[in-house]
Amino acid sequence: MTTSGIDVAGMVGEIGEDILHIDIPIPHQLQNVNLYLLRGEYPALIDTGPYHPLLEGTIVEALRFAGMEGLEFIYLTHSHIDHSGMAARLSAMTGAKVVAHRYERPRIERVNERLREEYECYSSMSSRMGFPEEIAAHVFDLASVWISLSEPCRIDTRLGGGEKVRAGDRELEVVHTPGHTAGHVCYYLREEGLLFSGDHLMRSITPNPELYCPPWRGNITGLPQFLDSLRLLRDYDVSCAYPGHGRAIHKVQKRVEINLVHHERRLEKTREGVDNGCRTVWEVALYLFPQVRSKPPDVDHFLALKETLGHLLILEEMEEVKRGYEGDLWVYEPA
Ligand SMILES: [Zn+2]
Ligand SMILES: [Zn+2]
Repeated sequence: MTTSGIDVAGMVGEIGEDILHIDIPIPHQLQNVNLYLLRGEYPALIDTGPYHPLLEGTIVEALRFAGMEGLEFIYLTHSHIDHSGMAARLSAMTGAKVVAHRYERPRIERVNERLREEYECYSSMSSRMGFPEEIAAHVFDLASVWISLSEPCRIDTRLGGGEKVRAGDRELEVVHTPGHTAGHVCYYLREEGLLFSGDHLMRSITPNPELYCPPWRGNITGLPQFLDSLRLLRDYDVSCAYPGHGRAIHKVQKRVEINLVHHERRLEKTREGVDNGCRTVWEVALYLFPQVRSKPPDVDHFLALKETLGHLLILEEMEEVKRGYEGDLWVYEPA
C-alpha cells in the first residue's frame, strides 16, 4: 500500500529480466491498459496509459513502485489517448524523451484540436453512411468528454519504422504496423523474440480499423493496411507478444492466422448482408453486429459503423459490391 492508499504492488509484475509489466485498470470495457518498463542504462516505458484525474495518481504510484525515477524514453505504440494520454505529464516529471511514429503527430501534439476536427468530420460523414442522427449526436457528445481530458505532448523523436532504439540495456526494433492508426508501431526485442504489440495484436479481440477523416493518402479506412500489417508479423519470430490490453499472447502466429480468418469471415458476412438487401453502411453494420440494436447509443455503434465501412470498401475494391448515391447517402448493391 502506498501514500495514496492504492495497492499498486498487484499492478506490477516482472515478465523478464528487467522488464516489468504494469497493469492499469481503466473505466472502459477493455478493462485495462498495459505499460511495459525496461530497466537498465536507458530506462524506457512503452505506452503511458490515459490521462484522467482519477487515474493519474494510480499510474504515477505504480511507476514509482516499479522504479520509474530517471526514465530516459517514453515509446508510444500509437496516438490513442488510452496509450499516450499521460505522456506529457510523465515526460515533464522525468525528463524522458517522447518517441512515436511521425504519422501519429497530429493526434499527440495537438490532440484537442485534432480530435475535435475528427469528430466534426465523422459527424459530416454520418449522413452518407445512414448513421441515425440522434445516435451520432449522442456518440460524439460522449467522445467530446475525452477531448477535454486530453493533453497535448511534444514528440521529441519521430519514427518512420525500421529503426533500432535503446530501451533499458536492450535494443528495440521499430515495426511499423499501420491500420488501427496510420502510425501504429510494435516494438520488437529480436534476441528474446518478444513483441510489444500495442493494439495491433491482442489476445481475444481484434482492433477497430482507422477511419481516416478527411481521407488520408487516398484511404478512408485503415482495414486493408491493418490486414497487411498482420501478414507482416509472419516474418517475425515471436515467442511472446505483450499487447496494449489484456493478457500476453504465446501462440503468436496462430493468433495472427485466427485474426486473418476472422476478417475473411466478416468480409463474407458483409457480402451476404448486401446480397440480403442491406443498402446503407449502417444497415450492413446492424446485420453484422445485431447486438448493437438493443443497446443505448454508445461508442460501440460507431465502432460497428467504422468496421463495416472498412469491409464494404474492400468489397468495392474487389468489385463484389457496387456503391451508388441517393443524394448524399451511399447505397450498396451486389455487383
Ligand atoms: Zn488504439
Ligand atoms: Zn488501446
